[in-house]
Amino acid sequence: MFIRTSIILLITAILFSSCSKKNSGYTNDKLDGSMNNISENYVKLVLKLGQLDKNYVDAYYGPKEWRPDDRLETKADSLNMLNSCDAWADTLLNRLEELGKNKADEIQRLRYRFLYKQLLAVKAKIFMLKGGTFTFDEESKALYDAVSPEYPEEHYRKILGQLNLMLPGEGSLSKRMNEFKKSFIIPKDKIDTVFKAAIEKCRTVTLRHIKLPKGENFKVEYVKDKPWSGYNWYKGDYFSLIQVNTDLPIYIDRAIELAAHEGYPGHHVYNTLLEENLVKKRGWMEFTVYPLFSPQSLISEGTANYVIDIVFPGEEKVKFAKEVLFPLAGLDTSKADEYFDVLKLTEKLSYAGNEAAKNYLDGKWTEGKTKNWLEKYLLMSPERAAQRIKFIQTYRSYVINYNLGQDIIKNFIVNHGGTDKNPEKKWELFEYLLTTPQTPSGLKE
Ligand SMILES: [Zn+2]
Repeated sequence: MFIRTSIILLITAILFSSCSKKNSGYTNDKLDGSMNNISENYVKLVLKLGQLDKNYVDAYYGPKEWRPDDRLETKADSLNMLNSCDAWADTLLNRLEELGKNKADEIQRLRYRFLYKQLLAVKAKIFMLKGGTFTFDEESKALYDAVSPEYPEEHYRKILGQLNLMLPGEGSLSKRMNEFKKSFIIPKDKIDTVFKAAIEKCRTVTLRHIKLPKGENFKVEYVKDKPWSGYNWYKGDYFSLIQVNTDLPIYIDRAIELAAHEGYPGHHVYNTLLEENLVKKRGWMEFTVYPLFSPQSLISEGTANYVIDIVFPGEEKVKFAKEVLFPLAGLDTSKADEYFDVLKLTEKLSYAGNEAAKNYLDGKWTEGKTKNWLEKYLLMSPERAAQRIKFIQTYRSYVINYNLGQDIIKNFIVNHGGTDKNPEKKWELFEYLLTTPQTPSGLKE
């Protein structure tokens, strides 16, 4: 798999340069046909692996008959299946490498690279299902095509120093933070009203910039006892089930974030546009399946985390919250500005969460030490820190997809001219990312 990683660079280089050269006789149609066959095999392969990890297949809306029908009753059955899947993935990668020598246009090149990287992640997942272990950074590289940067502890301490000047009260910073935040909890009986108003706002703004297919829709459900705070389950046919976890308090800003991240123009819009543009218009079936532990997740979470920046530029979020959501939730706005200033600073602590996951999963920190770190450097309440530990145990290095994903998306957009001075360009680039096959390392080129 590591040899393969270097091969991809070579193959991509061949594909990138091949457009101007004489090709070996393949037309784009022929290339599409071969790619479609690999794509179908990739979908079936992912579905097969999904039998061994219930979190692996996050969404599938392709043909029912592509679902596996073999029964895995013993450990030996599972091992045999994994071995045959590994060989299958190799065959597909070999075929892709062969196709890489041919002429391709831009979207085909993106498709090629996407499938190649997704298949490398499939191989990494097989390795893990067979009991293989990676370090945190190796795992995130193998599954998500990216490695989280490291910051010295001093970096976080400085931010905590600034928060220390802003937060009222006495005692530990995390205690003061959670005390301060109490005034911004949405009362339980108002959550649905507030959340729906936030979704409505995000949807209206999105529709001003991105055309969505007719009939796109979603349903909201409130659930308990989950390791996450919100989830989008894409069902196909432009429909999402959005679940909001009510185990822990939901703060007023979180309602906006969840609405944008899970709904508009986050996960729901991403999945809807992929289905419309790549599955329905082009017949690219690889997009009917979404393996959670794959580079696609970094694009998905990165774009979904970036959306606040695009839906609510500048002070728009604070304005909308104060004018619409605070009254709906029956909350006092007198300290709203202070609250949002504190939150803005807290966001800068987010990489401390990757640090915690890394040290915990690499076996360097105990669960207790990790929990203390989350409380100290992310200012989490003990309950929130416990939820995060559960998330890390379940999804492991997936945690990097949020903040690192957001930074990769943001850098791509800014580097291509999507700045605050040019909001239309920002939306245009954002839509491009949601409608084309992208890979994390590809965006950094
Ligand atoms: Zn998400």
